[in-house]
Amino acid sequence: FNTDRFGQHILKNPLVAQSIVDKAAIKSTDVVLEVGPGTGNLTVRILEKAKKCTVIEMDPRMAAELTKRVQGQADMKRKLDIVIGDFCKTTLPYFDLVISNTPYQISSPLVFKLLSHRPQFRCAILMFQREFALRLLARPGSELWCRLSANVQLYAKVDLQMHVSKGSFRPPPQVDSSVVRIVPIQPPPPIRFDEYDGLTRVLFSRRHKTVRASFEAKGVKAMLEQNYKTLCAERSLALDPQPFAARLDAILATSGYSDKRAAQMDVDDILRLLFAFHKENIHFA
Ligand code: SAM
Repeated sequence: FNTDRFGQHILKNPLVAQSIVDKAAIKSTDVVLEVGPGTGNLTVRILEKAKKCTVIEMDPRMAAELTKRVQGQADMKRKLDIVIGDFCKTTLPYFDLVISNTPYQISSPLVFKLLSHRPQFRCAILMFQREFALRLLARPGSELWCRLSANVQLYAKVDLQMHVSKGSFRPPPQVDSSVVRIVPIQPPPPIRFDEYDGLTRVLFSRRHKTVRASFEAKGVKAMLEQNYKTLCAERSLALDPQPFAARLDAILATSGYSDKRAAQMDVDDILRLLFAFHKENIHFA
């Protein structure tokens, strides 16, 4: 197998595999989604508990192995639905839970695709490269707090379940792994993700600089001014006569965040700053 292309590091440690599945607390009525089942070490354990399991696997050879594995086990075979394809390009079915030893090259798109799915799932147990997992978990003020942390924590509570060493996989990957639990906040915050993401992009491009300095970065003001003009045109609003740069400074100053740094701002701070701009019809996407 070309393990590089598909990130195929098979989880060989049965205790770890069982523990990952146990952490999802599957009920007999649950529909589980698994991304990248490989040879099915997690899948067979999921099938023991769940009502149904849909797996999405890009490598047809892996899918064939999994099919073979449940052959002759009528109950498992009936509950298993194999979709062959790229998770990133697949329309997701209904699911209550997600369990995945994720192909690490799609970690970020995978998380955001899951979080934007509706209806929201109940809980996801996901294995990631350790550095990625630690960034998902990071809290404001800590070294790893970054745009990824802020974006994911807008939608979900994330906590660490366990660390898994390289030696638990065949072939062993270059990096250690960690398992996290992601529980979506219900209902989701009433905010367009691309707006929030547009602001975190500005803030975290210079996370240790002041917010005021982040807005000085090349292209930021021009982008916001363009968005403002487009919005005014669409809604037939008169343009504010003040110079745009002066308005931005004023909004930042009254928001109280001018001298704060993204590295210290939590999700609520970011939302407050975003609403201060929205009140003035200035948008980030
Ligand atoms: N879950 C198995 C285990 O724990 O033993 C295998 C995990 S392996 C790290 C990742 C699996 O995801 C591989 O089977 C690989 O073929 C599959 N895969 C890689 N990229 C994918 C994608 N974009 N969509 C769906 N599956 C993918």
